[in-house]
Order: sequence, then structure tokens, then C-alpha cells
Amino acid sequence: MSLSLKEERNRLSFNIRDLSIYIYETEERFNAMMEGLKKMGEDPILHNDPSTLGKSRIELFKIYAEKNKRFHELFNLTEGNSNPLKVHFGNQLPTSLSVFMFQPYVQHLGTDEQLKKWMPRIISMEVIGAYAQTELGHGSDVRSLETTAAFDPQTDSFIINSPTLTSTKFWPGDLAIVANHVICSAQLILNGENKGVYGFIVPIRDTETHRVLPGIELGDLGEKVGFNTKDNGYCKFNNVKIPRENMLMKYAKVTKKGEFQRTGDERVGFAVMMQVRDLLGYASWRALAHALIIAVRYSVVRTQFKLDDGLAERKVMDYQLQQDKLIPLLAAEFAMHAGAKKVSLMTQENLKNINEKQDFSMMKDCHATLCGTKAFYSYEADAGVNKARLACGGHGYLSYSGFTNIWREFSPTVTYEGDNTIMALQVARYLINCLQKLKKGTKLHENVSYLILLQEILSKQQCQVKKTDELDVDLVLKLLQINSAFLTYRAAKTLLGGAKEHGFKETWDKKAGIKLVEAARAHTSVYTYHAFLQRIESEIKCPNLKKLMLNLCLLYGIQKLLEQPLGLLQSEYLTGKQSILLQDKKEELLEKIRPDVVGIVDAFGYPDNTLRSALGVYDGNVYETLMKMVTENNEFNKVDWTETFEKSLKPLRFVKRPPPIPRL
Ligand SMILES: Cc1cc2nc3c(=O)[nH]c(=O)nc-3n(C[C@H](O)[C@H](O)[C@H](O)COP(=O)(O)OP(=O)(O)OC[C@H]3O[C@@H](n4cnc5c(N)ncnc54)[C@H](O)[C@@H]3O)c2cc1C
Repeated sequence: MSLSLKEERNRLSFNIRDLSIYIYETEERFNAMMEGLKKMGEDPILHNDPSTLGKSRIELFKIYAEKNKRFHELFNLTEGNSNPLKVHFGNQLPTSLSVFMFQPYVQHLGTDEQLKKWMPRIISMEVIGAYAQTELGHGSDVRSLETTAAFDPQTDSFIINSPTLTSTKFWPGDLAIVANHVICSAQLILNGENKGVYGFIVPIRDTETHRVLPGIELGDLGEKVGFNTKDNGYCKFNNVKIPRENMLMKYAKVTKKGEFQRTGDERVGFAVMMQVRDLLGYASWRALAHALIIAVRYSVVRTQFKLDDGLAERKVMDYQLQQDKLIPLLAAEFAMHAGAKKVSLMTQENLKNINEKQDFSMMKDCHATLCGTKAFYSYEADAGVNKARLACGGHGYLSYSGFTNIWREFSPTVTYEGDNTIMALQVARYLINCLQKLKKGTKLHENVSYLILLQEILSKQQCQVKKTDELDVDLVLKLLQINSAFLTYRAAKTLLGGAKEHGFKETWDKKAGIKLVEAARAHTSVYTYHAFLQRIESEIKCPNLKKLMLNLCLLYGIQKLLEQPLGLLQSEYLTGKQSILLQDKKEELLEKIRPDVVGIVDAFGYPDNTLRSALGVYDGNVYETLMKMVTENNEFNKVDWTETFEKSLKPLRFVKRPPPIPRL
């Protein structure tokens, strides 16, 4: 065990297990997670082997297909799609889309007869599905999808077609190699009339032979950022006939005679999408936690430059600048963790209300909150993983550091399940509506009720803070709220003012976008900070842990204000001079949190085999582990390069070179 890490673990202000239980919510869940990760690390197939890092995509695909099978043998995946043990693989297992997307769509949008027919086959994995919405030409703009599903009353079937190059389905995970069915989003055509986009279950391969069915042309998209252990595919449909019953018909159906009937509320489709987005909040904090465990442990083991005594060297973690890189990310980590949990509870309640009572009253508030957490948590985690990597100097560039995998696996989250900009604009639309409701005196949801503070800002009230000590959790909450309320007001003013002159859509698309997204960002910070504060107050009893978490919460709020202070300054609620207090308070908090950083990351409990990192090993034996990986696992060092030397390197000395090109 490295002495540095031992020393750090001996001087913590809190009990690591208390924090672990806070993270995983109950002792049982924490124990189950640790047992599961341990079991996988010890399993000969699931074990993460560093030598896979240099393997080709084809080899990796085969290895991960085996891991997937083994995972199904050991754990029940199909019953719950949010299995947290997947952190061990960074969600890179083939068939994950079947569980994560295909199954919930069938479950929520299928009629009772459809569930009876499909669910047993999906759960047994005889039917493996992909979710094929995005096309080569359109992703965000779903209404413009070009794939068609035309009803043929003669044969009581739909004919699925890809009429143009740009209508080719493009990107769906598992589509090219793994899936035998897809939910295909297509324009429903009845008697030549377009009824809009609906979902259809389309068989693409024979379930016994896995041969591609007639009329289907598909393939893999090639090497990409993330998901290289599985496939993302393209697919064209050429007059593919499917039975009428394959349209997901719980909320809209086509009769035998070809009549269109609405049988429920189509907003249920959104509710399913929301359930999927809900999981991405968890994915964000898990990915960032993974990177921070590595960066924090390494920063304590790594030393650079001598202390004043000229003997010992300083741990890089003791530089204020290193703390500034990592400790605000630790604060963001726990803030997102609380925000993800809160929105998840909202999502579950919303779905329950819809399924049991057809009650959609929570839908808008829940949808907007999820769009915000999806967009800004995945941005924060994506940037945070990279920041943590850059904080590890040269070694952070090596795949053996673990960072390259975490980043590649997580980064597409920013784009899939709704591009982050589009998500942020949905939040902004909601905020503008809320402002309008406020004007009419309508009561707002608790997440946005603070917008009433606008009255205080517009009546030119000012913040009275004079000393850093006064910057407590409540005042920081108010500053975040004022900031967001003013940015929302500015966005609304630009939008509604511009709409009179240029029209609403022109102004939305071409004049107001920046202010709208800034308002959405500020609002998500308010929501997240508040969720974190509520969670600490309601769940943490131990005073030392509470003190630490309140400091992290305060740091999160202050960091967000320092990153985005314009609402406070433009409204003149806070003066430039008062903003200095924010900076001073932040520096004070970095010093206070510093002694506990190793304990904070240890609390996540990820074992070394899950971390897949030489820099983040629990015992801190970084250099030994790194050299072992470099010398023993690196296939490059096992190749005899003599032939290359003889063929391409040695002849260099005999090459007749042309005269040098004159310098310009
Ligand atoms: C790894 C990965 C896996 C995927 N898996 C699946 C899957 O399983 N199934 C599936 O159907 N799809 C999948 N997708 C596709 C994904 O859902 C889409 O790529 C995503 O929704 C973004 O849409 P787009 O590609 O059309 O981006 P575009 O909308 O074309 O985005 C391009 C740029 O335009 C901007 N932009 C677009 N519209 C606006 C606007 N109105 N205002 C301001 N800016 C705008 C965007 O912000 C972005 O900067 C996957 C994608 C990836 C990368």
C-alpha cells in the first residue's frame, strides 16, 4: 500500500461506509453492488483483461458477446434495465438496446394481445430488438423522418419502405449484427394520407438461422467514439411486408378496413422516452465517479517538485490548482447524484399516474426536468471525465490510465436520446411558459416556483452580502435562483420582443437561442443544487459527514455561479465587488474539503478490476502496475519487428532523396 494513500485514509473526517450507504441508498444495495462487482472481477470471462485494450473491433465484439452471455447467466438482466452492475462494462454489452429501449417501448406502447405475443419472446431473448428511429438525413427532427409504413387492406399488412438515400435508418445500436427485430419509426400512410410517425415491429432476421430477411439491407457503421464492442447499424427496407398487428397499437390503431383510430393519449410515447432518459442521469454520475476515483488517487500518489526542506516532494493534490481541477468535480458528482435520484422519483410517479389513472398532470414538469438533467449532466460528466484525465499529466493519455475507455464509452450520451442542445431548448420552452403562467397568477411546480423572485429583481432589490461567512447554503440557493430567474426573463424578452418583428420561429431559431440555452443551464443548476441540499438534510444524520456534504453542496453552487454569473451581474443584484466573495469562499472550501478527497472517492467502492486503471489502483502502487501493464499486456512489445526494420526502416539510409523544397 502506498504510504501517501495510507496517510490520507488515516486522517479522514468521516466514516467511508456512511458515505457509501448514502451513495447506494441502503446497506443492502451497497453490499449487493460490491458483491456483484467482486464476482465479475473474479469471473474468468467477465474479468476486465487489460490486454483487450489493443484488440481489433472484430475481436472485441466476440469477447463482449461472450461477456454478455456470461452476464446473463450470472445476473437477471431482462427484468430490470437499469442494472447498476453494468458500470463494470460501461454499458458496452451487445443486446443492451433490446433491454434498454426495445423492451420498454413494446411494454408501454403494445396492446394486451401484443404484450402476450411479444414479451415472453423478448424476455427469453429469442427476440432481440433494436430501436430504429434516426435516419441518415434526420435525427432530432423526428417529424421529418422519411421511412414509410403504408397500409395494404388487401393483405391486411403494412409495407415498410426506405424511399430515399436519406431515409436509411442510421445509428441504431445492435441493429447490424445482434438484433433480429426492430421497432421502426415510420410515417403511417393510409389511403395515400400521411398520419404521422408511429412505431412498427419489423423482423429483420430469422430468429433461428439469424439470416437477414428478404427486403432488408443492413450493415455496421464502422469504428466510432464509443460502443466499439458492439455494433451501430444502418438499414434499408425494400417493400417489407409486416402484419397489421405489428404496429404498436395501444394508443393509436389501424383497423382491418384501414381506418385510423386514436385509442389513448399519444403522450405515452414521450413517457417511455422519459424513462430511458432517466437512466442517463445515473450514467452521468457513474462515469464521472469512475474518472474521479482514478484522478484523485493518482494525484495523491503523484508528487512533483521538492518542498522547502529540499527532501520530500509535494503531492500534486496539494497544489491549489490541482484542487481547483478536481474538487469542484467531486461537488458536481454528488449534486448530479442527488438530482438524478430526484428526477427519477418524479419520472416513476409520472408513469404510475399515467398508467393507473391516465393522469398526465406531472408530464410537463417531469419532461422539462429530465431534459435538463439529460443535457447538462451529460455535458458535465463528458467534460469532467476529460478534465480529470488532463489532470493526470502524460499518463492520462495512456489507455492503461482507464480514461480513454471511460470517455469513449460515455461521450455519445451527449448526443443520443436527444441532442443536448435540443434538450436544453425544451427546458427553455418550459421556462418561458412558466413565466407566462406566473404573469397570469397560475401556481407553478415547486422546481420553478422561485421564478417569482423576478419581482424582487425588477424592483431593484440588491444582495446585502458583505463577508464570505454570510455565503451559506441558503444564500447561495437564492443567488442561483435570482441568476436563473433573470436569465429566463432576458431570454423571454428577446424572444417575445423579436417575435413581434421577425415572427416567433425566426426569433427562436436565429436570435434567441443563446439566451434560451443559458436560461436552461442556470435553471438546471438551481434544480440540482436544491435536490442536493434536500437530500443532505433529509438523509444524512452523522454530523461529520453532513458537514462535508454541505461544504460540497456549497462549492457546487458557488462554482455554478462563478461559471455563469451574468444573471446576477446584469440584474445588478450582486455587485462586481461582492462577486469577489464568491471566489474567496470557493478557495476556502477547496482547502476544507481537500483532506477528505481520498475517502470520498473510496466510498464508491469500485474495485480495481472495474476501474481498469493503473493510475487509480486502490493500493496506490501506480508505477508498478503501470509498468506491468506496459510490459506484460501490450501486444506491441510481443511482436518481432525485425522484418519491418529490414523492409522499411533500414532502407531509409539508402533512399535517394529529392533536393529539399525551398522554404517559402
Ligand atoms: C453512439 C450513438 C448511438 C445511437 N443509438 C441510436 C439508436 O439506438 N437508435 C436511434 O434511433 N438513434 C440512435 N442514435 C442517433 C441519435 O439519437 C441522434 O444522432 C441524435 O438524436 C441527434 O440527432 P442528429 O444526429 O440528427 O443531430 P442533428 O440534429 O443533425 O445535430 C447536428 C447539430 O445541429 C444542431 N441542431 C439541430 N437542430 C437544432 C435546432 N433546432 N436548434 C439549434 N441547434 C440545432 C445540434 O445541436 C447539433 O449541434 C445514436 C447516436 C449515437 C452517436
